[in-house]
Amino acid sequence: MTPRLQPLPLQELRLLGEGRHWPIDQPIAGLASLTPVRGQMRAIHHGTVLELEGSAETIITLCCDRCLQTYNHALTAKARELLEIAVAGPEEEEVVFAAEDPVECLDPGSSFDPERWLFEQLSLQLPLVNRCGADCPGPPRPTGDASGEGEGDPRWAALRSLR
Ligand SMILES: [Zn+2]
Repeated sequence: MTPRLQPLPLQELRLLGEGRHWPIDQPIAGLASLTPVRGQMRAIHHGTVLELEGSAETIITLCCDRCLQTYNHALTAKARELLEIAVAGPEEEEVVFAAEDPVECLDPGSSFDPERWLFEQLSLQLPLVNRCGADCPGPPRPTGDASGEGEGDPRWAALRSLR
């Protein structure tokens, strides 16, 4: 069984010359997928830069914007990213650095969380517009009732019967 992803201290990763490779086969926190996320990823510490590379796939359930029906969507992500690692220094200096530099830097004393990184990469691949496919039946047809409001809601049916 593939072990679950765990955050890895950057200082530990730095000692691994070849970096760290993770096989992935698990649900990812925050991502409501039907199937486990499968793939692989790698992280290499280059001193001042963290190199990340990975690919993953899963199936999620989306709601079609047009017909409002749910459908399954294959979600895949393939990404490579370089993250800057802040140079370690006296604490005071670090604060000044953080205030002046808007670029997000990793704290060299922190941990890298592969699960969160995967979540971000997969989230970036979510479609902006949800369409169930070529066979989309289109918007739900309005029913006979002119008001259209609360169709199927027993409270409205009760109100109508009072008219
Ligand atoms: Zn649809």
